[in-house]
Amino acid sequence: MALRSDWSRRTCSMARGLDILGDPWGMLVLREVFFGNGRFDAIKARLGASDSVLTRRLAALVEAGLLTRRPYDDGGRPRQEYVLTAKGEDVLPVLNAVVIWSEKHLSAPSEQAHMFVVHSGCGQRTTSADSCTACGKRLTAENTSWHSLTRTATPVSLATAPATQETTQTNGTAA
Ligand SMILES: [Zn+2]
Repeated sequence: MALRSDWSRRTCSMARGLDILGDPWGMLVLREVFFGNGRFDAIKARLGASDSVLTRRLAALVEAGLLTRRPYDDGGRPRQEYVLTAKGEDVLPVLNAVVIWSEKHLSAPSEQAHMFVVHSGCGQRTTSADSCTACGKRLTAENTSWHSLTRTATPVSLATAPATQETTQTNGTAA
């Protein structure tokens, strides 16, 4: 995405990962897609990003294989929305960790400015990024909710990567 030098060939896997995951706008785009906001205008409205900033981040996330485009019908106009891939869904513990770390160490500007990671299975908040600290279950996008107090009164179930051809579910709705 040409925001800085390319780290994709670094010998350290943390550096290679940060080449993709180290961009705040890119991570906030992923936040929106996990929240179920995969359409350009909806992401733009939430982030307050310019068209060019958002366009570049979406292209970079698609190029890196974390998001994919899916067509939808916008009142007769064919358009595209962004959905997670399995590779993108695997970023969940990273995003969870950012939220949990921030809640632990950073002051919030208001009482409403908090966000929690919730295990939908037991309904409890967790303070671990990859498992529920209340019941021990491993967290997946399927069983995790995020509760941003400024967004909604109750936790929101996260989006998951749509089923692929190889793992098509029996309900026949997979594209
Ligand atoms: Zn739990």
